[in-house]
Amino acid sequence: MSLPQFKLFRPRSLEEAVALLAKHGGNLRVLAGGTDLIPSMRQRLFAPEFVLDIRHIEELKGIHIVTRRGVTIGALTTLSEIEGSAFLRQHYAVLTEAAATVASPILRNMGTIGGNICLDTRCLWYNQSHTWRKGCGFCIKKDGNLCHVAPGGNKCWAAFSGDTPPALLCLNAEIEIAGPAGARRLPLASFYTGIGDDYRKLQPNEILTRVFLPESSANYRGVYRKLRIRGSIDYPLAGVAVTMKRFNGHVSEARVAITAVNPAPMLVGKVGPLLEGKVVDEALAEAVGELAARTAKPLTTSALTPEYRREMIRVFTKRAVLAVATS
Ligand SMILES: Cc1cc2nc3c(=O)[nH]c(=O)nc-3n(C[C@H](O)[C@H](O)[C@H](O)COP(=O)(O)OP(=O)(O)OC[C@H]3O[C@@H](n4cnc5c(N)ncnc54)[C@H](O)[C@@H]3O)c2cc1C
Ligand code: SF4
Repeated sequence: MSLPQFKLFRPRSLEEAVALLAKHGGNLRVLAGGTDLIPSMRQRLFAPEFVLDIRHIEELKGIHIVTRRGVTIGALTTLSEIEGSAFLRQHYAVLTEAAATVASPILRNMGTIGGNICLDTRCLWYNQSHTWRKGCGFCIKKDGNLCHVAPGGNKCWAAFSGDTPPALLCLNAEIEIAGPAGARRLPLASFYTGIGDDYRKLQPNEILTRVFLPESSANYRGVYRKLRIRGSIDYPLAGVAVTMKRFNGHVSEARVAITAVNPAPMLVGKVGPLLEGKVVDEALAEAVGELAARTAKPLTTSALTPEYRREMIRVFTKRAVLAVATS
């Protein structure tokens, strides 16, 4: 499948990029690693008039430790750099573990943390060629007005399928967004809308610039578990991140977040009150798994059934909670 025609911009600074976004935002797509955008453009999911290749903006690259405040990660930092960072592995282990499960080594060398956070939602009826989608009459997310997954409804349920956002949610990460009106900082948890065809709060003239991990989230034990069809290279069909701190064997803080089973990555509610002050055992881990399974609302957006994906959320959460509690 060939790429549609577009005009390419290659800004060297954030200022230049923001000026181009202000001028062409409505008909422009940001390209970081391109590992998701380019295949999507080949499938004619996007046919922008302009593409803004931000890969040459040095100020958006790298992992910067800010004493007593935490870490700032530039949006263009590759997933391989995150996976390979000894500092992140030691202090924010859940993030390096999640990054290491994305796609394959080659795609992680190209793919960026910003691209992973901004990743488009996915659906069996959407991530297909134009001819395939046309044969089905298209759908709400692109070119049509019906949903094949929830017929009769008017909401798109395409699943958010990035691996690092649940880890970042467990770490209370914040993000910075820049645009013509300046820069704003917000919790990652408030970036996603939960609507499949309008899944992120990012204006067409805005760009994600940085991710902040607070120092208060450092040194939690953390694990990430995911279900995928091809173990060596695939999007999650269910994913769970767990972070935990313990004191004298008792849980002092715990968070769980899930991905790929809702139109947004989601923190699982009531995990803290359930676990805090207790020693984790099988029954308690099972109860957390149950909470996570109830938060998951998978539909027939992927090759595996919703029932199986919800069950895997329960099983993986239980296993992940036991793994962090015994590590
Ligand atoms: C075979 C295959 C397997 C994959 N498996 C996985 C997987 O297991 N897990 C997973 O999470 N992903 C997977 N991916 C998707 C992708 O490789 C990753 O999500 C990657 O992190 C995307 O980053 P990127 O820099 O390449 O994003 P791009 O493709 O450049 O961009 C992705 C989207 O984000 C937007 N964007 C990118 N950067 C910014 C920014 N700074 N500001 C605003 N918007 C921005 C783009 O406009 C686009 O809409 C897979 C892709 C392929 C092709
Ligand atoms: S959930 Fe429905 S509207 Fe959304 S991409 Fe899938 S079929 Fe299309």
